[in-house]
Amino acid sequence: MENRVVFTEEMAKDYTILIPQMAPFHFELLSATLNSFGYKSEVINNNSKEIAYLGNKYVHNDTCVPAIYVIGQFLDALNSGHYDVHKVALIITQTGGGCRASNYIHLLRSALKKADYGFIPVISLNASNIESNPGFKLSFNLLKKLIQSITLGDLLMLLYNQTIPYETNKGTTKELSEYWINYLSQEYLNNKKISSFRLKKHLKAMINDFNNIPITNELKVKVGIVGEIYVKYSPLGNNNLEDFLINEGCEVKTLGIVDFILYTFESVAYDIKQYGNNSLLMRLVYKLMVYYVEHPRKYINSIIKKTRYAHILEFKKLKRLAQPYLGYGTHVGEGWLLTAEIIELIQSGINNIITTQPFGCLPNHIVAKGMFKTIKEAYPKANLGSIDYDTSASKINQENRIKLLLMNAKSNLHNQQEKS
Ligand code: SF4
Repeated sequence: MENRVVFTEEMAKDYTILIPQMAPFHFELLSATLNSFGYKSEVINNNSKEIAYLGNKYVHNDTCVPAIYVIGQFLDALNSGHYDVHKVALIITQTGGGCRASNYIHLLRSALKKADYGFIPVISLNASNIESNPGFKLSFNLLKKLIQSITLGDLLMLLYNQTIPYETNKGTTKELSEYWINYLSQEYLNNKKISSFRLKKHLKAMINDFNNIPITNELKVKVGIVGEIYVKYSPLGNNNLEDFLINEGCEVKTLGIVDFILYTFESVAYDIKQYGNNSLLMRLVYKLMVYYVEHPRKYINSIIKKTRYAHILEFKKLKRLAQPYLGYGTHVGEGWLLTAEIIELIQSGINNIITTQPFGCLPNHIVAKGMFKTIKEAYPKANLGSIDYDTSASKINQENRIKLLLMNAKSNLHNQQEKS
């Protein structure tokens, strides 16, 4: 019999589900979506120094950095006194892939026990039926709406990053992005279903709002961020990398979470074909899911082409970019997607790329730093840097290494300006 605290239907009535922060443009919307389905959830935004301390105290330091941060953040929130610890549940994803991420949940439960919180239920968020709870159901409609909110979060992040370095009036872009996060959170909270017509209306209005922000026409260094999903998006995990780059006068490009979802679907379809019963029906279901998830981005591109913003690359084209370098069976961690994202950025004119690596994350070292030599042979102008993130890593060292990459980037931009 399973030795875990199950999240019951009774608990679902009044327990607060705590969500660890990973992607600030997306997670408030995800929480609003859960709440519109009757749950009471909250994103925890604590970022004290205690997080790393607690993570290291209750999780073995050989474990992946994202697990240490996420577990530390949960424990810090529970210790904070803000919550009735007998009325909270924690939620964590289980991707079901070949990497350790699917086992973070067990590390979390073990840490809770050691910290005397063993009575707190932990919910697994997964679409593969790995673990279930009577009080939490990832229905098709909930999954659809969660994916929809990720599409909106991705767009918001892309618009924000392409606007903020150029804004004429300081603060306008941040203000507008906060407005949209609040507006959409209310909209998603108050309506259980958002029609495709309504979604399109929001996408269009958001693009137009950002496009109307007055900007300068300066040339800025463009820097792409790729990497392991947690340290790529989480300001806690990457020591506020996006803000640091923006303060250094750069335009940042971090590609969307939707691509990671599509990559996960594709990986399942690949495995079914290679190792499963090769069921045509199953493969068709996954292909249809890819089509469904990607569909709103076609609409986004049709609006974006009339603006100053860059279009979003179709997933099948992104996938093709990895083909000369890696097989599609390379799908542990971020797998072929990470390499494909580097190539996408370079082909779109962004040669300066930082890969964010949790210290000791072997799968992502292979498809990131491990590919640098090959990528540089194909794209000699590529200016690539790999930064390790660890709870004990010095922020100053990380920033100094990034500054070296930026020195090259700035001198390349200067040379380019001289020539034109
Ligand atoms: S991808 Fe890296 S950080 Fe993530 S679970 Fe695997 S080894 Fe750990």
